[in-house]
Amino acid sequence: MRLVFLGPPGCGKGTQAKVLCQRLGAEHIGTGDLLREAMRNGTPAGREAAFHVDQGHLVPDQVVNDLISERFARNDRPQRFILDGYPRTLPQAKACDQILSGVGLDLDGVVLIHVPDREIVRRVSGRWSCPKPGCKATYHVISNPPKKSGHCDDCGTALVQRSDDAPETVEARLVVYHRETEPLLPYYRAKGLLRNVDGTGDINLVRGALETAIVDR
Ligand code: AMP
Repeated sequence: MRLVFLGPPGCGKGTQAKVLCQRLGAEHIGTGDLLREAMRNGTPAGREAAFHVDQGHLVPDQVVNDLISERFARNDRPQRFILDGYPRTLPQAKACDQILSGVGLDLDGVVLIHVPDREIVRRVSGRWSCPKPGCKATYHVISNPPKKSGHCDDCGTALVQRSDDAPETVEARLVVYHRETEPLLPYYRAKGLLRNVDGTGDINLVRGALETAIVDR
């Protein structure tokens, strides 16, 4: 199982990838999470990323390609994984192919989680997440509330709202998604890798559809 989850911000790819990876014994690799961790730690990549992330823009390709390349250069590189939020541009997709084929781990599927823009804006404005490194659980005030209001079910940490989930920043991220990331759909379709999943239903129904889409991967 070597997959990419594609879709607009807030389509649920992070939440679903995290649970599916736990269930199926794979590593969840989210570039958004890696960047937020680098920003918290004040690393050179984190300092370079902060400005772009806060504006809702993409971080330069080289920064994220280096993060992924470093992960797959290590001896403990995962054999089974879901890439969440990477690649997001055509140059990243081509770099990703090179990085993975260099270690004999070519992708075996790309899943698009489709959610219309108006639903994205509604969802993201109610999104809360756990800031604890290594936890990364996400919640929604209506569709997926935590058991104890404001606290993570998994580790009890107080939940936070991401600064880039402000409505005007979400609009900017959607523009970027349509312009930069959607061209990946024909790219992966031409390789015979693309599967589509409707991401608008109940969280468990979407998970079931994802499991069906990746069953033979
Ligand atoms: P996410 O958590 O996946 O929604 O990512 C949050 C933010 O991190 C994005 O809006 C971008 O600013 C940045 N980011 C994450 N992944 C990438 C990527 N593959 N390429 C460029 N920027 C990224």
